[in-house]
Amino acid sequence: MNIGILALQGDYVKHARAVEKLGHTSICLKEADTLQKCDKLIIPGGESTAIIRLIEKLKLRPALLEFAAEHAVMGTCAGLILLSKIPGNLPFPSLGLIDIEVERNAYGRQIDSFIDTVQITLNGQEQDFEGVFIRAPKIKKYAETVEILGYHGTDVVMAQDKNILVCSFHPELTNDLRIHDFFISSVD
Ligand code: GLN
Repeated sequence: MNIGILALQGDYVKHARAVEKLGHTSICLKEADTLQKCDKLIIPGGESTAIIRLIEKLKLRPALLEFAAEHAVMGTCAGLILLSKIPGNLPFPSLGLIDIEVERNAYGRQIDSFIDTVQITLNGQEQDFEGVFIRAPKIKKYAETVEILGYHGTDVVMAQDKNILVCSFHPELTNDLRIHDFFISSVD
C-alpha cells in the first residue's frame, strides 16, 4: 500500500521507516497533488501550531479534508491535535475530523517527557505498548461515536472514529510496529 506522510514539520521520517519496515511504500508529501497516489495518510508528531500554519500557507486544508472523506488517516501527538475537533489554542482551526477535546502539553514541557507502558486494544486484543510521551496532549472529552483504544492509567491516549485513528504518544519512536500495522491493515 502507499502510505502518505504529511512532511511539513515533525518526525515524519520515523513514520516513513515504520511503514517501510512493514513492507509498504511511504510517500512523504508537502503538496496536495501527491495525495492522489496515497491509500492512507499519517500526520506525524511535531509542533501542531507550526504544522497548521503550513497547512494554511500551502492551502492544503481542502485536499486533506477531501482525502479524509474517503481514506484512513492516523495522527500521532501533534497529528492527534490537528485531527481533533476541539484542539485548544491553535492559530487556525484544526481539521476537526474526530470529535475529541484535547488538552495540549497536558503532561508538561519537553523536560517532562517520559516513557511508560500504555494499555491498548487492537482488533479486540488488549495488550501493553511502550508509550513515548513528548509534550503530549490528553484526550479530555470524546463523543459517543469515538472508540477508546488506549489508556495510560485512567488517561485516554488512543482513540478511533471510523477511518480516523489518533494517539497522543509516539509509536514511530519505538521499534514496535503493531500500531502502524493495525492502522494500515485494519483502519478504513
Ligand atoms: N506539544 C506539541 C503540540 O502542541 C505536540 C508534541 C509532539 O507532537 N510530540 O503540537
